[in-house]
Amino acid sequence: MDLLKAVDKNGTPILLINKTRQELADLRQEIFYCPQCNEQVFIRAGEKVMPHYAHFQQSSCPNRHNGEGDYHSKGKAALFQWFSTQGIPVELEYYLSAIRQRPDLLVKWNDCYFAIEYQCAVISPTIVRERTRGYRKAGIFPIWILGENRLKRRGTSQIKTTYFDSLFIQKFTPDTQPQILFYNPVTDLMTSLVSPSPIKSRMYGRLHSWVLSHSGFQHFFLKSQVLNHQIYEYWLNEKKRFRGLRAKYAGSSDRRFISWLYSKGLHPQYLPSEIHLPVTHHFLIETPTYIWQSKILLEIIKPLSVGKTFMYNEVQSTLQSIQIRRPLASIYLEESVAVIEYLYLLERLQILSRVNEYTFRKEKEVVFPRTLEKAINRDSQLLNQLVKLEKQTRLHVK
Ligand SMILES: [Zn+2]
Repeated sequence: MDLLKAVDKNGTPILLINKTRQELADLRQEIFYCPQCNEQVFIRAGEKVMPHYAHFQQSSCPNRHNGEGDYHSKGKAALFQWFSTQGIPVELEYYLSAIRQRPDLLVKWNDCYFAIEYQCAVISPTIVRERTRGYRKAGIFPIWILGENRLKRRGTSQIKTTYFDSLFIQKFTPDTQPQILFYNPVTDLMTSLVSPSPIKSRMYGRLHSWVLSHSGFQHFFLKSQVLNHQIYEYWLNEKKRFRGLRAKYAGSSDRRFISWLYSKGLHPQYLPSEIHLPVTHHFLIETPTYIWQSKILLEIIKPLSVGKTFMYNEVQSTLQSIQIRRPLASIYLEESVAVIEYLYLLERLQILSRVNEYTFRKEKEVVFPRTLEKAINRDSQLLNQLVKLEKQTRLHVK
């Protein structure tokens, strides 16, 4: 591992960030030790490499080969600099003995401690969650930033993603939208995928980039400007893909879903437009929206006559087999949030009404389109209707 910090013979930590050539040359005369394994390390610096400490060939340091290379060190160093320039107290690789964790950066801001983890390599999801819990227990607010080398763009509102990346969906305050952060230390660009909505290996959301050094830490906590109508616009394409004959239903859960639909004489082409709608916290559920929303609509709502009611716990038992994702944001949120959001969406569409907190009444039948063309038209109408409803709500709030 490229070390940015080592200790000298007196145990004083020495950072190589910001050192001049002469200072580096002077430091090379001294002896340094790895703060983790206490082995002797040496300074590596040159035209192309950022100055760092390295272990000797025969080293047995457990952290020597953890896969984090030069890109990771550069990012850590750049983030460290960024906090320092703002006058925010920051420590690099500070060992928190109470929880035995060493965050990349420990920051003190507005009387709060923040652990900044810059993650470029894949590690076990369990480690990610345990570290996050460790920080929370110690009263430290964790912020995970992925290396931008992990960001695979597919247009302006879609990225290709892995299960690992989707774990990093975070919410910094109850008011801010969920997001995933990516940082590129070469271009100094921070990119946020705001309001991410994962469907298998794709993730929709609004991609928003800014030059890190042009803004302060408070930028992380701004209420983001993503409006649902922006989401509805790209969701129409997703609906077309879902209904298309060329859609691939290859995975085992998709195959089970398709044969379950066949057993009811149905196909994705002819499902009501109210199935497969975006809800803000869908990312808490790994099962695709079209599967869990079909369960609710076809198993609970469709068999009911208009005017009859159902309870929320019936929905829960129908959804027992869905897969939960548990991203970082799930530390404060439960997957039921997404299910409730969907029921409220159906309420806004006047399919349901709420009798009380846990009881819903069916208000009208949903339409099963007879042709693909009709289905796509209805999808478009329904998403437009949601845009209008959202604009009205916002006017009322203002
Ligand atoms: Zn070491």
